[in-house]
Amino acid sequence: MVILALVGAGIAIPLALAWTRGRAQRRAREEVLYLQSHDPLTGLANRARFTERVGQALEHIQDDDVHMAVITVNIDRFKELNETLEHQGGDRVLHDIGTRIQHVARDRDIVARLGGDEFAIALTDVAALSDVMAFVHRLGSALTRPFHVNNREVVLTTSLGIALAPADGDTADVLVRHSAIALSRAKLDGGQRMCFYEESMDKAVQQRHTIEQDLRHALRRGEFDVVYQPQYDLETETPCGSEALIRWHHPQYGIVAPGHFISVAEETGLIVPIGEWVLRQACSDATQWPEHLTVAVNLSPAQFRDGDIAETVADILHETGLAANRLELEITESLLINDTEEVLAKLNRLRELGVRIAMDDFGTGYSSLSYLARFPFSKIKIDQQFVRNMTRDPAMRAIVKTIIALGESLRVTITAEGVETQEQADILRRLGCPQVQGFLYGRPEKATVHADKAMSGAVPMSRLPKRTSAA
Ligand code: C2E
Ligand code: MG
Ligand code: MG
Repeated sequence: MVILALVGAGIAIPLALAWTRGRAQRRAREEVLYLQSHDPLTGLANRARFTERVGQALEHIQDDDVHMAVITVNIDRFKELNETLEHQGGDRVLHDIGTRIQHVARDRDIVARLGGDEFAIALTDVAALSDVMAFVHRLGSALTRPFHVNNREVVLTTSLGIALAPADGDTADVLVRHSAIALSRAKLDGGQRMCFYEESMDKAVQQRHTIEQDLRHALRRGEFDVVYQPQYDLETETPCGSEALIRWHHPQYGIVAPGHFISVAEETGLIVPIGEWVLRQACSDATQWPEHLTVAVNLSPAQFRDGDIAETVADILHETGLAANRLELEITESLLINDTEEVLAKLNRLRELGVRIAMDDFGTGYSSLSYLARFPFSKIKIDQQFVRNMTRDPAMRAIVKTIIALGESLRVTITAEGVETQEQADILRRLGCPQVQGFLYGRPEKATVHADKAMSGAVPMSRLPKRTSAA
């Protein structure tokens, strides 16, 4: 009996041990598989699993007459939100977004967190576009409800990119990529919107992507250049200064104007080192000009947010030896919308250095006159659109007249931008505009050409009296 029991135990114990070990191994294997295919924060499928499941679902749509939609969702300005809520608060919001998306989705839909603040949903059986729209509507209602984090109420907005199968792609990778491209378009258009993928978006996004990649190396590779456009005193018709404008000599696209890359540089934060480079270059170039000429440099809001702009400017003035009163910094109204107090403090520090501050593109932004009352600008630049339209639009002319009168009463210099014709110059003179800048007076030119003209005090060709041919 004892022997039998011992024999039995001799078999049963190793068997039980083996079984337990097997179960533990199985569980460990399942856990690894789960971690490999899921996002730990939200418990949703991760990108790899999403692509795999979308691939499987696509096999069915080839058989049946159904369609599929891949929707990529991104939270607008999540970076800022994450910073204000601190890391844990940000995670809480992401977790809750995941839960809400899953509530809205049906069992047969596939929901994933692709990474960061990007989620994706694949609607697997779409009979008509109205199904997609109905889902987007439900999703919108779910995500615009406030989130409660750290005793705070957080309201957020989202952007959506949508690709449809089979029209926009027949593999999971292509559909995910195309919905991401549509999402980039929605973001570029200001966020808080949805965009359906269109073929033409591919090229634009591709180009933007190349620009972003290339921009990272452009400074090191010495691909930037600064050109200068003269500003004239309208009464005496003599130059009084110049504006520094950046140019990018792209190895593939040739000269790229700032309109095509400044926004990318701002979004990626690259504008900080690039802006500093422009500032140093412009100050150094201006030391070669006659002393009565000023140099104006454009600054982006990001240069005020990150780092100490006043210290940077002070260092550059010291390094280059340019007198502070010859430097003018151009800012736009957008800078003054957020963190106004902090920005005003920085502007005041710049003014204490002796630097002039100009309000650029006046009239295009939020145009709050209170900004003019709260900060003593040295100059207001009337945006080109008013100058361009004032010859045929009396309302535009009235605005120009008012800004000039405002400048007079606030004792602020006014510069009219974008002066292209004699007619515009004549109107501006009659209205008492003190300064002008525009193609009529000179196009942006390389530092060397510009310095030569500044030395000779040359009158631009377009301003020379037309010679009448002898009869
Ligand atoms: P902005 O500061 O208002 O500069 C004036 C823009 O108008 C320049 O365009 C100039 O070439 C153009 N312009 C001047 N006169 C005329 C004219 O008579 N007619 C027309 N149609 N246009 C004229 P650009 O160089 O393409 O610069 C565009 C904008 O890019 C600038 O507008 C400025 O906001 C930004 N930018 C340029 N350089 C820099 C820079 O170094 N840093 C930053 N942050 N922004 C810059
Ligand atoms: Mg400017
Ligand atoms: Mg301007």
